[in-house]
Amino acid sequence: MAKMAADAKIFVAGHSGLVGSAIMRALRANGYSNLIVGGRSKVDLTRQSEVEAFFESEKPDYVFLAAAKVGGIHANQTFPAEFIYQNMMIAANVIEAAWRNDCEKLLYLGSSCIYPRLAPQPIPESALLTSTLEPTNEPYAIAKIAGLKLCEYYRKQYGFDAISLMPTNLYGPGDNFDLEHSHVIPALMRKAHEAKMMGAPAMVVWGTGAPRREFLHVDDLADAALHLMEHYSEATTINVGVGKDVTIKELVAIICDVVGFEGELEFDTSRPDGTPQKMLDIARLRSIGWTPNIELRDGLATTYAWFLENIDQLRAAE
Ligand code: GDP
Repeated sequence: MAKMAADAKIFVAGHSGLVGSAIMRALRANGYSNLIVGGRSKVDLTRQSEVEAFFESEKPDYVFLAAAKVGGIHANQTFPAEFIYQNMMIAANVIEAAWRNDCEKLLYLGSSCIYPRLAPQPIPESALLTSTLEPTNEPYAIAKIAGLKLCEYYRKQYGFDAISLMPTNLYGPGDNFDLEHSHVIPALMRKAHEAKMMGAPAMVVWGTGAPRREFLHVDDLADAALHLMEHYSEATTINVGVGKDVTIKELVAIICDVVGFEGELEFDTSRPDGTPQKMLDIARLRSIGWTPNIELRDGLATTYAWFLENIDQLRAAE
């Protein structure tokens, strides 16, 4: 396994998303400048002919496949067809085109929600496909599992150096702060901020507050992705997490503290809890020399600072 050459041509698919933009920052910080990006106007990754033409002309040496249709528990339930279709098409088109165009190595991002609903905790990589999935995000999970398996079987049949990472729940600058369709951290941060600004006595938290979730700052994920691109070359997926989790109740307490909202919390139990617990076993990741750096409270504070800087633009885009 070699370090990526300083002038390697690197394609970050999904460069403007939460994960892709963090990978772009990490690549630039590590001196890589021959970066190519797609963007919807240049290449629609769900269209095979467009992806083929893009790869034939660009011929990247390395691909970080961070493009995906993503969303929180409510978005997954509202747009199940879009989640399964778009994610399957993106994975199949990009992995096939990368292999056909002699790409050195491809890194694919899965997600911890693709493990079975009642997987042992912390979840080892070997839990994949051992029992039923969490129904609230099954369409996304099935598509992501197909992506992991594409990597595995392109390696097996063609010797293509494709690896897959299984990140836990992510958060950070550049996240989607939409109240209905985002994940829990941006949603609660925005609710706490708006409740504080309006002097509201309470804010609503979905579910019971009892589910446990592990959260990884996206800059930590990007750092791990670069490390694994250079130090990992196996067929099986590898978990990327922090090895610690919190209840939603504990999370909201930290968010309220960071934001400065001192009102009450109302738990709306008509909203789903989703899977009861989701924490990854990161023993393999540690064994190849990577550990997370960003503590949850610190990561939430910098994410809130980003939110404050970008709130006008976020509102304008809605
Ligand atoms: P999940 O990890 O796939 O379940 O996705 P989410 O990040 O959307 O939700 C995580 C947990 O946070 C679930 O138990 C939600 O019910 C809970 N939660 C509490 N308040 C909110 C909220 O305002 N938005 C979202 N998306 N989740 C919330």
